[in-house]
Amino acid sequence: MFRLEGKVAIITGGASGIGEATARLFVQNGAKVIIADIQDELGHKVCQDIGPPEDIISYVHCDVTDENDVVGLVDAAISKHGKVDIIFANAGIPGAQNRKGIVGTDYADLKRVFETNVYGTFLCAKHAARVMIPAKKGSIVFTSSVASVTYGDVPHPYVASKCAVVGLTKNLCVELGKYGIRVNCVSPFGVATPMLMNGMGFNEKSKAEVFVSEIATLKGETVDANDVAEAVLFLGSNASKYLSGQNLVIDGGYSLTNVALGEAYKKWLS
Ligand code: NAD
Repeated sequence: MFRLEGKVAIITGGASGIGEATARLFVQNGAKVIIADIQDELGHKVCQDIGPPEDIISYVHCDVTDENDVVGLVDAAISKHGKVDIIFANAGIPGAQNRKGIVGTDYADLKRVFETNVYGTFLCAKHAARVMIPAKKGSIVFTSSVASVTYGDVPHPYVASKCAVVGLTKNLCVELGKYGIRVNCVSPFGVATPMLMNGMGFNEKSKAEVFVSEIATLKGETVDANDVAEAVLFLGSNASKYLSGQNLVIDGGYSLTNVALGEAYKKWLS
């Protein structure tokens, strides 16, 4: 049920982190994959590492904020493979990591974050839907974030952008259901990818993982990009054939905690 034999998938942000792990897992499970990114050298390297043959995995330069690039990406998939069964619209940026609150938040940063995380995601869905609607099937998966269900610790532009992705997931699920197209998103906890490490100033992956494990609710496991990839495999495959409109939170229960009460009570008792 989890296999993707005969399926064609586009993965944006596929040159690194979660997108790269998903590309590897999709190919292992029989899919033909096109990875799209703006890091061309890295994207080609990932393809060479996973492939050959070129028929199984290939790279297309695509800046998701540019509609012409997104049109070109989807058209490249059609001319190469004749269809698009799955799009994992995953490319994203964190934005400025200052903790200066709304008054200190730069409007230009808000627009930049929305440009990639929301408008880019929207464009990928729009052009994937253009070819999925006539085919009367497809699976669209977005990357939101645990920041779509926990609030207060992450800068406003990122949180607002990832909540917008959840809104788009649900609205599109309703529109596209009549064409047999499912739309879901994944919301990962902190994964030690270049984005998290650069954003939070970790120079070693192991240090980022220790930090994430310390704040995690679920102990004994360290979340990594493969854990997210497995969830995307599920959402892309027939194993989830009646699942649509869901925000699949991959956080080991982190978003269910509220440490404020416990911390305040400990302080009160001391
Ligand atoms: P990453 O930096 O390893 O990968 C992101 C990729 O997106 C990069 O290869 C980058 O070049 C690409 N990209 C950025 N802007 C692009 C654009 N305009 N067009 C095309 N590609 C573009 O980071 P990651 O952690 O793998 O991030 C993947 C997604 O996961 C993002 O949407 C991110 O917001 C989300 N996410 C990450 C975490 C985490 O802790 N790492 C947690 C929750 C959500």
